[in-house]
Amino acid sequence: MSRPEWVREHVYIGGSWVQPRGDICEVENPATEEVLGWVRCATAADAAEAVEAAAAARAGWGRTTPAYRIGVLRELSAALRDREDLLVDTLVGEVGTPVGLARSSHVGQALAVLDSYADLLETFDFEERIGSSRVLREPAGVVGAITPWNYPLYQLLAKVAPALAAGCPVVAKPAELTPLSAFIVADAAEAIGLPPGVFNLVPGPGSEVGELLSTHPGVDIVSFTGSTRVGRRVAGMAAETVKRVCLELGGKSASLVLPGADVERAVSATVANVMVNSGQTCAAWTRLLVPRSEIDQSLAVAEEAASQHVVGDPRHAATDLGPVISASQRRSILDYIAGAVAEGACLVSGGVERPDELGVGHYVRPTVLTGVSPQSRIAQEEVFGPVLVVLAYADVDEAVVLANATSYGLAGSVWGAHDGQAFAVARRLRTGRVDVNGAAWNPSAPFGGYKQSGNGRELGRWGIEEFLEIKAVQMPEGQRGHR
Ligand code: NAP
Repeated sequence: MSRPEWVREHVYIGGSWVQPRGDICEVENPATEEVLGWVRCATAADAAEAVEAAAAARAGWGRTTPAYRIGVLRELSAALRDREDLLVDTLVGEVGTPVGLARSSHVGQALAVLDSYADLLETFDFEERIGSSRVLREPAGVVGAITPWNYPLYQLLAKVAPALAAGCPVVAKPAELTPLSAFIVADAAEAIGLPPGVFNLVPGPGSEVGELLSTHPGVDIVSFTGSTRVGRRVAGMAAETVKRVCLELGGKSASLVLPGADVERAVSATVANVMVNSGQTCAAWTRLLVPRSEIDQSLAVAEEAASQHVVGDPRHAATDLGPVISASQRRSILDYIAGAVAEGACLVSGGVERPDELGVGHYVRPTVLTGVSPQSRIAQEEVFGPVLVVLAYADVDEAVVLANATSYGLAGSVWGAHDGQAFAVARRLRTGRVDVNGAAWNPSAPFGGYKQSGNGRELGRWGIEEFLEIKAVQMPEGQRGHR
């Protein structure tokens, strides 16, 4: 049954809720396959109005002081915390993510990121002196924020918080499959009296609203999180107006278990990592690399760990894996599994059958495969489902080659007998983030990809720098070395 929060007839432009001209887009609950709610989508014309509203707000917002913006970010955080239960409920409904994960990760980490920007602004230097020059870091202008469905609130705040901190207004386009949580952010923005045009929300099809944001001359920066396929297209379109494009794309990250590491700990943590959010996590460690001498033990641990993951109703506290986002995503994941098995892969756990007693919902069994070539599709392409591939290596040099041998480079982990051994190998990986021996998430450390995982960096001061232009003002005094 749709609740009022899950039916949204208006979009948020220039500080007002306005009637958009697009179609109604239904939002499915992936656990029940029923309609959860609906939104009326924006069209390209509506999105253009949002860009104009943001452009009108640009100069005023850009002139606010960091102290003022710190206050705004803290108010926004408090307004979202007031809506925490609704956010959790909405994310469980629209993503199908288990309720515990919705609270701790989807909402908890999103708010931690928002808070981190208020903290960071306390000491962020917008100006430095280099010889006779004053180098100013200025807001880069209107940000078009295009986000995916897998962590819709987190992805949105990972753009909106640093953009607002930098002094940039935002036009946000959430994924069509999961627009509802973004409306709660707009509600919070309205509740705290954010100046008109500083945050605008235009849900709608990527092919229309996303393309408008990627091509409109009034958008200065497109910050895109999504697939490498669409990211390439966005970058191509944005080139026409020479906008800056920050791409946060897909991954096929490795979890590398070094000789001497605690195999049980490393393998079970890797299985748990892959299954989070039903495998729909860009940074998931979807390839487990183990020493050939440890393969039997590794597979036994992986099988046991995967079998302990409870698949089921995401509203239940005991559930580890909810459904995947859609019927087509489920089909795609099952095709990858079936294709790998047809090519000779050995199924260690899971497979293409429906989980027991789950006749409805887009559920996939936690699946572990081995016996595949490192060049096979299942070992190279992003499956974006609860699927782990286990590969064996002969020595550490080969392990490093295998870890680096995909077109992606987003994340990864290294497990060693001691941290120094693992750190030395982490340095050799061509990837944007590496966790050593199960280290904890740090919201102030940069996140982003090498190679086709993207070219941007979110989180921490790198997140703010994405949204700043740099101006050198040459001052007449102290002209030593000045030309
Ligand atoms: P997607 O299909 O690429 O869509 C991402 C966003 O782009 C959606 O809002 C989508 O809108 C929009 N879009 C689609 N076509 C567009 C176009 N022609 N022009 C402009 N925008 C367009 O990705 P997804 O399936 O939602 O998300 C999964 C992908 O995101 C995975 O590859 C995952 O690895 C990646 N991801 C990366 C990170 C990271 O930080 N590196 C984080 C999370 C996810 P519609 O929904 O309306 O199509």
